[in-house]
Amino acid sequence: MRTLIIADVHANLPALQAVLADAGEISQVWCLGDIVGYGPDPNECIEIIDCLPGLVCIKGNHDAAILDEIPVETFNDAARASLEWLRTQLTDEKKQWLSALPERVEVDEFTLVHGSPRNPVWEYLLNRETARQNMLYFETKFCLVGHTHVPGIFSLIDVDLASIRYRSMVEGEPFSLTNKCIINPGSVGQPRDRDPRPAYMIYDDSDVSWTFQRVAYDIKRVQTRIRSAGLPALHAERLAKGW
Ligand code: ZN
Repeated sequence: MRTLIIADVHANLPALQAVLADAGEISQVWCLGDIVGYGPDPNECIEIIDCLPGLVCIKGNHDAAILDEIPVETFNDAARASLEWLRTQLTDEKKQWLSALPERVEVDEFTLVHGSPRNPVWEYLLNRETARQNMLYFETKFCLVGHTHVPGIFSLIDVDLASIRYRSMVEGEPFSLTNKCIINPGSVGQPRDRDPRPAYMIYDDSDVSWTFQRVAYDIKRVQTRIRSAGLPALHAERLAKGW
């Protein structure tokens, strides 16, 4: 059974479509939050994600902010402007859909959150020390996170939490994971690892393998949509740079 793992779609419809076309046949989808924010097609992205097979979807900080569950003052100016725009666009039905999303779900040996297992909606896992501390906050073997928009894996090397290894991933090469890990598949809609291509992962339980993938898409199309919607130009510009 192939599981598609995606995060931080951020209302980027062409990027989401490119990932789904590239992923091939999948049995279930785990979506790690931030479906909306930044991008120009929030309603359409929710509609597509809602119809994906075996969907487990987590709430991200942008999803929570549009519902007034966390203060918008915690966002930078451009992100806040896109949230204000989003308020005028998102239908009530879609707001209700977002509001029903959980912040944390456990599926077999996987814990799914947006930010971190310690602070599911908000904490950024950007370094080994933060990852080391967070290893205490989940009981499953794996924890899947998004939020930083940077793909990579923190692995626990010693059982006494003394050593954490971090590694990025090579696209298209299946690998296995034996240690307790925190895994970030990268962002579909706004990558920030200096590679503008949408990122995603596939977990295949038939051979217990993981694969990291990138896919090209029409960046100009979504940039034009962002500008014509009156959204901050910054969010269009950084798409081309993957930052
Ligand atoms: Zn995000």
